[in-house]
Amino acid sequence: MPNPCLSCGACCAWFRVSFYWRECDDQCPGGVPAGLTEDLGPFRRVMKGTGRIPPRCIALEGEVGTSVYCSIYARRPGICREVEASFEFGRPSAQCDKARIAFGLPVLTAADWRWRDGADNDDHPDDSGNSPSPPAMPPVAA
Ligand code: SF4
Ligand code: SF4
Repeated sequence: MPNPCLSCGACCAWFRVSFYWRECDDQCPGGVPAGLTEDLGPFRRVMKGTGRIPPRCIALEGEVGTSVYCSIYARRPGICREVEASFEFGRPSAQCDKARIAFGLPVLTAADWRWRDGADNDDHPDDSGNSPSPPAMPPVAA
């Protein structure tokens, strides 16, 4: 069973994704691509697409609830890294649950992470928090 975030993406299409402007690559080399952001007041930026209703981050590729990945995974904002997937670290996540419910997806349980334990794969890179991570293979166009 793969990382459930790869077949979800709900949080990337439900919340406004705003963060301190200095996280962008026009301020910090290797940071969040500034061209994918918009100003949000004097000190903050927002990922394009998440400042409107319904939101959907411009960096999210694929179809929510089916197959997705973040096209800037290694350079995503800190706020994206902070959102936990429910039970990825053994506890529920209100943000994850809220987004999944909004898309009619069941909330995650501990059982959704057993693939990782079974594979003795606790240092899997996807353990670093939310965010649909890049697929091992190029995604099939949704
Ligand atoms: S993880 Fe990637 S796709 Fe999701 S909101 Fe953050 S930048 Fe956008
Ligand atoms: S953190 Fe939760 S809502 Fe976000 S992509 Fe992963 S499973 Fe979906």
